[in-house]
Order: sequence, then structure tokens, then C-alpha cells
Amino acid sequence: MKPFCTISTVKTLRSLFLFAAYVIGLNLNAQQSHLDTLISAKKIVYIEGIIPASVTHGYESKAILWQSAIVDAKHCYETKYKNIDVKAKLAVIDSVNWTFDVPYGYTFANEGWIVLPADVDFNAFVRIYGASAFKDELLSEAKTKGIKPDEILESFFAFVCVHELGHLIMAQMMKDGFSDILFNELAANVVAYEYFKNNRPELLRGYNLFYNGVINNYNPHFKTLTELYENYGKMSVANYVWYHSNFMKLVEEIYNYKEVDFLTCLKKVSMESKDKNLKIRDVAVLLDKDYKGLITTWLSKNNW
Ligand SMILES: [Zn+2]
Repeated sequence: MKPFCTISTVKTLRSLFLFAAYVIGLNLNAQQSHLDTLISAKKIVYIEGIIPASVTHGYESKAILWQSAIVDAKHCYETKYKNIDVKAKLAVIDSVNWTFDVPYGYTFANEGWIVLPADVDFNAFVRIYGASAFKDELLSEAKTKGIKPDEILESFFAFVCVHELGHLIMAQMMKDGFSDILFNELAANVVAYEYFKNNRPELLRGYNLFYNGVINNYNPHFKTLTELYENYGKMSVANYVWYHSNFMKLVEEIYNYKEVDFLTCLKKVSMESKDKNLKIRDVAVLLDKDYKGLITTWLSKNNW
């Protein structure tokens, strides 16, 4: 498969993964050879497809689930919008001989690869993503809703896969889109959420439980957008996850506002705006001409 063009790569790197990348300061260019070397050194199963997957033997079922979500979402968006042809490869790799600077368990995208962990169980998942302190609350809520613990992380990673695809779709639709990191993270979440709500709502259940669990149980040190900008890459992963979990409530509202198609509206305002460096609040003002104040109202209502 041909590598991404430079623009796509830059966009991918900039928007890496919704929780982890900027917190831990990745050096992904240097790690590309590590990934190829790592994959070639493992007992890997290659699963062909529109999004081919390289998977550590024994974890094929997870990989197939995530692969199918990416392929289906790609098809949905390529059908919905013109001139999109996203290329990506999926790697689902176990932790043995993990040599990356990225701690095992984080997801990242690099040079066309979307890399996910194969052997992360529920306990590891809550530890990595800052939810250990309220693990029991998550499990209790999961039991109430008939959701198995593993479903939470499988759903979370499925969402992340399509979130990453969302960045690539935006890069193709908007050659000169807004550069703001937070806005791009929000927008990729809107893309992923729309896909799952419309096509595979059952795959959203686990992630929905997780982000609501974070909102209900985590007590954040930083709470405002200004604090998020000022402490980006420096705050705890748990606090960062709290921000993204709250973003999901805004994503829900954007999705439920059916009068406007998000990416169409975004493309319009991005073409009209001369300043591509606007921050999330300023982009919200532009979008809100169509969203009738929904996004700016949500931000101010939440003191963001
Ligand atoms: Zn992202």
C-alpha cells in the first residue's frame, strides 16, 4: 500500500490519538522502522482487506472487529461525500518486545498505520486511561446495563479507530482546514460518533458507558478550555480523558442537531475563513451560524 502523502501524514501526526499522543510526547518518525521491525519479528497473521490488518496470532477476533468498523465507516463516508479515498493499515500487536517510547496500551497512528494493543485487559485499560479509582463504579454500571468489562475496551478502541479515520477524512475534504488541535479532536469524535450511532450503535455501548463513567466519577484538577490549552501535554492522562469525555457530550448534541450536516458545515466555514489558526471557541462561533448557537452555548454552559 502506498504511503500517505505528506499532508495526510502531518495531519495524522498532529491529530494522533484523542487521549495519548501529546501527553507523552511521541517521536513517531523515528519509530516507523521500529514498527516494521517489530511486526516482522512477531508471529503475525495478515488479514487481507480494504484496510489490511497485521495481527499477533491469537488476537484475530479483536482485530477483525476493529477492522470491520474502519472499513464500514470508510465506505459510509466515501459514499456520503465525494472525492474521499482514505488509505490506512491496522496493526494489533501484543506487548512482547515492545520497544516504542509510547507505553504499551496506547493507540497511535503513524505513516498510514493505526496501531492498537492486542493484550490489554480491563484492569490494564482502566489503569492506562486513568479510571482505576472508579473501576468498581464502572463495573457496577456495566453490570446494570448488561455490558461485559471487555466490551468497554473493545468499544473504546473501535471508536478510536474510526476517530482516526475521521482525521484522515477531514484531511481529504478540507485541504486547508483549521489547525487547532482541540477542535480537530472534537471533529474527529463527531465523525466517529455519527458512524456508530447510524450504523453500529451496539458497538458504541461500551465507550458510552466509559465516558459517562469518567464524567460522573472523576474529579478533575483542570476544568476549563483555557486550562486545557495551557496545560496540554502536561496534565495527567486521567484529566485529559475527562476533557475528552466531556467533549463527547457536546458531540452528542452536535449529532442530535439533524438540521445541519457537520462536515458539510465545517467545510463551508473553513473555506470562508481566512484565518486557519482559530481556536475552538472561534470555530464554534462560525459553525453556530448554522447550528443556531448550539456549540457556543454548550461551551459557555459548561464554563468552557
Ligand atoms: Zn485524534
